[in-house]
Amino acid sequence: LPTGAPIYAKSLLTKYKKAPLVLSTANDSPIKLSRASKQYLYDETGQEFLDCINGTAHVGHCHPQVVSAGQVQMSRLTTAQGFLSEVLSKYVKELVDTLPERLSVCYLCNSGSEANDLAIRLARQYTQSDDIIANEGAYHGNLGVLVDISPKINKSIPQYRNKEWSHTVPVPKFYNGKHDLADGETTADLVKKHVQDFEDCLKTICVQKGRRIAAFIFEPMFAIPGVHIPPKEYFQEVFRLVRQYGGICIADEVQSGLGRTGENFWGFQNYDVFPDVVTVGKPLGNGHPMAAVICTKEVSDRLGGYFSTFGGNPVSCSVGLAVLDVISNEKLMSSAKRVGRLHGMALKDIMRKYPNMVGDVRGMGLMWGIEIVAEQASKAPCPELARNIMFGLKARKILVGITGDHRNILLFTPPMCFTVDNSRRFCQSLDDVLNECLTSFNIQSLSLQLQSDGRNFLLDDVLDPQGSKGQSRKRLASNDPEEDSVKSENED
Ligand code: PMP
Repeated sequence: LPTGAPIYAKSLLTKYKKAPLVLSTANDSPIKLSRASKQYLYDETGQEFLDCINGTAHVGHCHPQVVSAGQVQMSRLTTAQGFLSEVLSKYVKELVDTLPERLSVCYLCNSGSEANDLAIRLARQYTQSDDIIANEGAYHGNLGVLVDISPKINKSIPQYRNKEWSHTVPVPKFYNGKHDLADGETTADLVKKHVQDFEDCLKTICVQKGRRIAAFIFEPMFAIPGVHIPPKEYFQEVFRLVRQYGGICIADEVQSGLGRTGENFWGFQNYDVFPDVVTVGKPLGNGHPMAAVICTKEVSDRLGGYFSTFGGNPVSCSVGLAVLDVISNEKLMSSAKRVGRLHGMALKDIMRKYPNMVGDVRGMGLMWGIEIVAEQASKAPCPELARNIMFGLKARKILVGITGDHRNILLFTPPMCFTVDNSRRFCQSLDDVLNECLTSFNIQSLSLQLQSDGRNFLLDDVLDPQGSKGQSRKRLASNDPEEDSVKSENED
C-alpha cells in the first residue's frame, strides 16, 4: 500500500477485502503487480511502470545479489530462535558500524512497527516514564502503542480516545506551517518559534500536568508529513530540551535510512545530532521483511531481555548483508546525491513554471515532497489536483504516492538505482501533466467548491469508486480525455 496512507489503505481493505491488492495508487483500477526489476514494476499484462515511490526496494527490485543471498541461505540454515550464527554476528557488526560508536547494541526484528514498538519499550524502561512526544501527522506503525503516537492513523479512527501519555508537537514546516515568515524575519526566527512550541509542550507535560517524559520519536526528514528538512539548529535545540526534561530521542529511520538522503547513511546525521535509539525497517531487506533497533548500551541495559522467533534469522541476515554490500559496491549513496541534486533543480524549475499549482518542493537525495496548492498566494492545499497529477503520471506509467495532512503532497522515494534519465522522464511527464491540468482545471473554483462541500474526496472515491458519488469522481478525473472536463461540469 502507498507509504503513509492509512486512510486510503483502510478504505481499500474494506472495499477490496479479498482482492490480491499489491499496490493501490489507482482509484478504480488497482495495479496488480506480477514482477519487478530495478526501478521498474510490471503488471499482469506486462505493462512497465517507473517506480518512484517504493523506497522499500532500496537497491532495486529483485536485485540478483540480494535474491541469491536469500536463496543460498534458505537452503543452508533458516532458523534463529536464540541461536547464534556467523551470518548474524557479521550482519550486526556491519550494521552497527554504519552508526556512531555509542549506538552499539542492535536488536533485529521483522517490521518497522516492531522496531518502533521496541524503541518505545526501551525508552520507557530506561526512563521509568510513560509519556511520548511525536509529531502532528506522524506515522510510526500499526501496533497498539504506535497507533496511539501516530496521529496520521488515530485521527481517522471513529471515536478514538486520545491517550493521556501521548503528545504531539507541530512539524517544523517552513512552508504552509504553523509559523509563517513575517516581514524582516529570518529562518532562524522561525526555528526559534518551533523550538519554543516544543518547550511549551514539555512544560505542559512536565510542569503543568506533573507527568514525566520518556521519549521524543521523530522522522529525521519528516517523510510522512510531506518531507520537511529543518535547519540543524532545530534538532540540536530539541534534543537538548528533551534530555533536559529527562527523555531520550528516537530517530525513526524507516524512510530516511541507508543513504537515501545522499549526504549521509542515516537521516539524523544531516543535523549533527546523536539519538539514543535508531529504528529502521523498510530498506534493510530490500522487500524481505526485516527491521532493527540500535541503541546505546545504557538504554539497552535496562530492557531485561528481548526475544523474537524470526528476528535475526540467517536468511534475513544474509539478505541484509547483501543489501549493505550493494549500497557500497554500486555507490548508491553518491548516486542518490548526484541524481537528487539534478532532480531537485529540475523540480524547482517546474515549481517556477507552475507557481499556482506547485507551491513548494523539498528534499534531498532520493526523497522529495512536491506540495500541490490551489494558488501561489493563499498556499491553499489542493488534494484533488494532487490526485489528478498522481493519476496523470500513472497514465504515463509513472507511480508516485500522496502524503501530508491534507493529502496534497506528492511523495517521491524511488529505489536508489533511479537514474538521471529516469529523473528526466519523471520531470518531463510532470511538466506535461501540470500543463494539462493548467488548461483543464479551474483550480480556484475547484478548491472553493471542496471547502464548501466539506467532502473528503479521497475517502469517497476509494470507498465508492464506481458508485453513487460517481459525479464527484468524474469531475476530478480530468486527465482522462474521455471524461468530461472539470470546466464543463462546473458550468453545469
Ligand atoms: N515508520 C515510518 C516512518 C514508516 O513510514 C513506516 C511504514 N510506512 C513505519 C514506521 C512502519 O513500518 P512497517 O510497515 O514495516 O511496520
